[in-house]
Amino acid sequence: TNHWLSGAPMHWMRDWASPFPIVVEDAEGATLTDIDDNVYDDFCLGDTPGMFGHGLAPVARAVAEQARRGTTYMLPTEMAADVGAMLAERFGLPVWQATLSASDANRALIRWARAVTQKPVIIVFDGAYHGMVEDCFVELREGRTRMDRGLVGQVHDMTRTTRVVPFNDLGALEAALSVGDVAAVLCEPAMTNCGMILPDPGFHARLRSLTKLGGALLIIDETHTLSTGPGGATKAWGLEPDALCIGKAIAGGFPAAVWGVSADFAQRIADAPRGAGRSGIGTTLAGNAAGLAAIGATLREAATPEAYAAMLAGADYLVAGLNKLIAARGLPWCVVHVGARAEIVFAPEPPRNAALMREALARHDLNHALHLYLINRGILIAPFHMMMLVSPATTGQQSDRLIAAIDSFVQESAS
Ligand code: PMP
Repeated sequence: TNHWLSGAPMHWMRDWASPFPIVVEDAEGATLTDIDDNVYDDFCLGDTPGMFGHGLAPVARAVAEQARRGTTYMLPTEMAADVGAMLAERFGLPVWQATLSASDANRALIRWARAVTQKPVIIVFDGAYHGMVEDCFVELREGRTRMDRGLVGQVHDMTRTTRVVPFNDLGALEAALSVGDVAAVLCEPAMTNCGMILPDPGFHARLRSLTKLGGALLIIDETHTLSTGPGGATKAWGLEPDALCIGKAIAGGFPAAVWGVSADFAQRIADAPRGAGRSGIGTTLAGNAAGLAAIGATLREAATPEAYAAMLAGADYLVAGLNKLIAARGLPWCVVHVGARAEIVFAPEPPRNAALMREALARHDLNHALHLYLINRGILIAPFHMMMLVSPATTGQQSDRLIAAIDSFVQESAS
């Protein structure tokens, strides 16, 4: 008998195309083995935490060493200073905090943004996902901000304090900011959770100038786009956020995340008026020593320039193969590619916003069938859409197998 609600420790473990969850025995690099000894090429990588490969030896060592001396004390360890310095150097923001998840990091940043600006509203882009962050469970319907239809137990009306605009729509962004009540715009460098959507040329420069003009902070969520390069898309694309959220892979798959702020934002936090009492920010295990050890080991020994070179070359190889297949079979599909992430979109041109992406998905009922087909052939891609992530350990043979499997799916479904 199974004593887990919905049959697994977390309900989304049932969101795969297979009718039952694959029960994992072991995972190493980009290969996962289940308890029936089936071996999978893993392009999901835990939906990103395994970006640098599963079972990272330096992370395992660092966590085990720390665990022997205690994992959490409600006090820092000496190592924290080094990890803070590494984060500052790599990501270009000087002041950091650690949390257990990207969701926690985003929630803290939203709270501080409202506190320091004394403004209530945040702006997010349609189709965005920033974690279990109530303020972000909104979407555009008939051009208006609406609550996400999937929310359970919701009492507060989030549409009063969150405004949604279509990605790449600078006019809508300007209008949403012009009200003058916006604390922050929270966004990913490229959207990654409603399919993958790239920013138009010039989008980020204008986003930055509009937020400055509107007195709003710019919070960039690098959780997924950390795959773009050692300093994420922020460094690779020269973005200038006031704050960064980085979760998932930052601790090599160990549950830890960080948020960082500019010197100015940090000063405003220090100066923010506060009464005595609880801040609403922080959880008991946030910043724990084992998590810090995992972040340190990841930054020092896993997320290295060599690892990135391998991931990016591997992703280029996969994308070239997918594009060749699409051209050879004359498919009305395209591939969207950011760093080590690639996504097949069932439309001939990459959609520029979530509404167009939803249309593309609705036109083609291929998602479920293709996911199941791949699982049955020993290949895992992200269960929610067609995202494929390449780790430093992913081999050309693994990419070849994925491309060949998609090709045979196309041929079999055509016949
Ligand atoms: N930000 C982004 C961009 C994400 O994709 C996610 C999770 N998919 C999160 C934040 C939240 O991460 P977590 O669930 O680990 O808190």
